[in-house]
Amino acid sequence: MSSPSSPDTSSDNVRPSNFLRQIIEADLSQGTHAQARWGGSPGDAAHHAAGRPDPAKIRTRFPPEPNGYLHVGHAKSICLNFGLAADYGGVCHLRFDDTNPEKEDQEYVDAIIDAVHWLGFDWQANGTEHLYYASNYFDFMYRAAEHLIETGHAYVDEQTPEAMRANRGDFGKPGVDSPFRTRTPAENLARFREMKAGQLPDGAAVLRAKIDMASPNINLRDPAIYRIKHAEHHNTGNQWCIYPMYTFAHPIEDALEHITHSICTLEFEDQRPFYDWLMDRLVQGGLIAAPQPRQYEFARLNLTYVVTSKRKLKHLVDSATVAGWDDPRMPTIVGLRRRGYTPESIRLFCERIGVTKDYSWIDYSTLEGCLREDLENKAHRGMAVLDPVKLVLTNWDEVMGAGHLEACSLPALPHPPEGVEAPVRHFTLGREVWIEREDFEETPPKGYKRLFPGNKVRLKGGYVIECTGCDKDAEGRVTQVLATVVPDTKSGTPGADTVKVKAAITWVGVADGVPAEVRLYDRLFTDAQPDAGGKDFLALLNPDSLKVVTAYVEPSLAQAQPDQKFQFERFGYFVADRSDHAPSKPVFNRVTGLKDSWGK
Ligand code: ATP
Ligand code: MG
Repeated sequence: MSSPSSPDTSSDNVRPSNFLRQIIEADLSQGTHAQARWGGSPGDAAHHAAGRPDPAKIRTRFPPEPNGYLHVGHAKSICLNFGLAADYGGVCHLRFDDTNPEKEDQEYVDAIIDAVHWLGFDWQANGTEHLYYASNYFDFMYRAAEHLIETGHAYVDEQTPEAMRANRGDFGKPGVDSPFRTRTPAENLARFREMKAGQLPDGAAVLRAKIDMASPNINLRDPAIYRIKHAEHHNTGNQWCIYPMYTFAHPIEDALEHITHSICTLEFEDQRPFYDWLMDRLVQGGLIAAPQPRQYEFARLNLTYVVTSKRKLKHLVDSATVAGWDDPRMPTIVGLRRRGYTPESIRLFCERIGVTKDYSWIDYSTLEGCLREDLENKAHRGMAVLDPVKLVLTNWDEVMGAGHLEACSLPALPHPPEGVEAPVRHFTLGREVWIEREDFEETPPKGYKRLFPGNKVRLKGGYVIECTGCDKDAEGRVTQVLATVVPDTKSGTPGADTVKVKAAITWVGVADGVPAEVRLYDRLFTDAQPDAGGKDFLALLNPDSLKVVTAYVEPSLAQAQPDQKFQFERFGYFVADRSDHAPSKPVFNRVTGLKDSWGK
């Protein structure tokens, strides 16, 4: 079954299993969440208890921090969370993790919403928009903090940040208790309220969970859960001057939204004991609904030849190394989109790479392969000459008639879907055509089958021609290639193959070819792992990641709509640029070549 939020990415409709699917299937068969109630919106235990049985069998979430544009790594998380929810009769929430007052921006919120929609997913289910903002939960988070204080599970620590760091210990050394650790709940509550009231400056105190300063897991050595930050928040303004730490906020966000399976990347594995510790305390206190959410970790996507860190991507944008977040060389969703990647190809990629707990790198060519697979039977074919030189058919006027333009056509799709008539493209052949400079050699290297004096080739979809020579300028550079047309050899006519040729070359008529700007994009970095092992990714930029040429394209290509994808015969997949293309001034981006050519 596929639903609008579960786009079908596999031809046989069977998805490979993985450890997350097994966990979910076990929970469903054991009825772990069968008694859960849903209050219609996020809320505490009482709110949900007053609701109806949860219509969603599972709840997952995609929780981006709105501090940058999403990248291909996020796409993996999006496909995973929305995909699992759809496959198991559940719901996936889009949640903005906006608990950090700095660095967050409406521009990013809008871009994230766009990106998730574009990928083909939606957060609407059972008549509810499951789009949430973590900053709406500040009141509850504060209440949870007071609850921990009152039950002796949290204290206000006023050590200096240096002392706190030193007293945390390390892997070989247990931590040392803070002198503030023995404050009574009443003292802590009073002090915490002073923090909230703005009576202490930034950094003067933090609220810490009281767990175990000797724990082998350093994350359990009394982690900070609230800090003072006199900063304005884009949603709550100046209402707060204390803000929850991510590790405290995140489990609470999950619990209020009744998330069943909280899926995150492996870096958070060590945080899981704290996640469970906090959830246990809040369930015991009756603050959040049982059963509590559980966290599961998977390996993040590492893709070769790109960096996938919002901070590093932002640096590329801010330093004008690339033209913006949507530069077609960027691994952002907007960049991939502008480059010509389709949502189908990205979803296919995410499906294909699978979900594991093993750290690994995925080769960039896997992504390119998915695009080729998606476009193979969808993208219309067309001819473009990227490095043009003029070819003159010297006997044309005499044989075909002066000024004659021969109407030619070729199928636009070699394998149209069943029952669909193959679309056809039309163009003309006249006395002058554009050909690739590399398709002529005055002195051919061994095995060369294209144009050289005395050799015959076919102009694809047109006539057989015989090369007679060339004209050159003072520097010896070929200015035009000369040939004669062989009559009665037009493609698709009865006598067409009486003259045998070893090659057919691509071309565009001078009469109807349209000049086009073609942006030949390549990988942004020369190193497969540009930011691994402390490498300076900025020193590994590929100086040839963009080459712009003026090409000629056949008329059908010039009529492209922005964002329309094509296969330029022999060159690969191209897209009419979303922002800059207009039929009167065509601009195309190279998405990828026809086969993997990197490093060859
Ligand atoms: P970055 O390090 O690029 O800023 P992030 O993890 O800080 O990424 P968030 O906005 O917090 O960005 O991410 C939202 C979700 O996307 C998280 O659940 C995170 O686990 C997931 N995610 C981020 N990067 C990857 C990746 N490379 N592979 C898989 N999931 C990812
Ligand atoms: Mg993060």
